[in-house]
Amino acid sequence: MLPPVLIVEDDTKLARIVKAYLEGADFRTAHASTVREALQKAEVELPLAVILDLGLPDGSGEELCQSLKELGDFPVIMLTAKSSEEERIAGFSLGADDYMVKPASPRELVCRLKAVLKRYERNSSSPDSIASFNNGALILNSLRHQITKDGRSISVTPTEFKLLQALAASPGRTFTRDELVSRALGYQFEGYDRSIDAHIKNLRQKIERDPRLPEYLKTVYGVGYLFAGERDAL
Ligand code: CA
Repeated sequence: MLPPVLIVEDDTKLARIVKAYLEGADFRTAHASTVREALQKAEVELPLAVILDLGLPDGSGEELCQSLKELGDFPVIMLTAKSSEEERIAGFSLGADDYMVKPASPRELVCRLKAVLKRYERNSSSPDSIASFNNGALILNSLRHQITKDGRSISVTPTEFKLLQALAASPGRTFTRDELVSRALGYQFEGYDRSIDAHIKNLRQKIERDPRLPEYLKTVYGVGYLFAGERDAL
């Protein structure tokens, strides 16, 4: 039996609706309404994924997200009233794999959950595991889901990894946001969706020497992004 999707939400009415939709899509669910309860439940039964409301009565959802990520390798979708770009970017940098602003459509939530789960599956069973660039300065290990930058291991979210992997698969090729959304996030691009930009910004913070003058992740103005590293010959 699959582990449950853990719904962390103190609004019991909302939690009930999310639970109904998830169970309607054949997921098992567990519910926690506080930070403490969420950590207890996640520790006992490693969840398949976590739907995390940021506004919780006994602590910060942001901190909880980080603690959950230390417990295990499962996706976290943040659900929150906060909607500014900065807050969204902060959410992604805490390890959230996706982010929805309330009021959120429960059907869309189920779609996004399926998309992040698919990404996790693909990442854990990818066959060609190592790709090395710029004389070993940047190494992607898709089996371990790990990035090494100048010999140091760097922690990235599964979504960031998937995005970098998609770009690095074709160095020098320009990808539109549209292509990147479907390849890395697994759903169809909507014109207003800036999630890709937020992920790129986080990745630049992690892998570039100077995020303002990126040597790997370049913006192609009016089009999208390209990966400028040079793949090492073996
Ligand atoms: Ca709340």
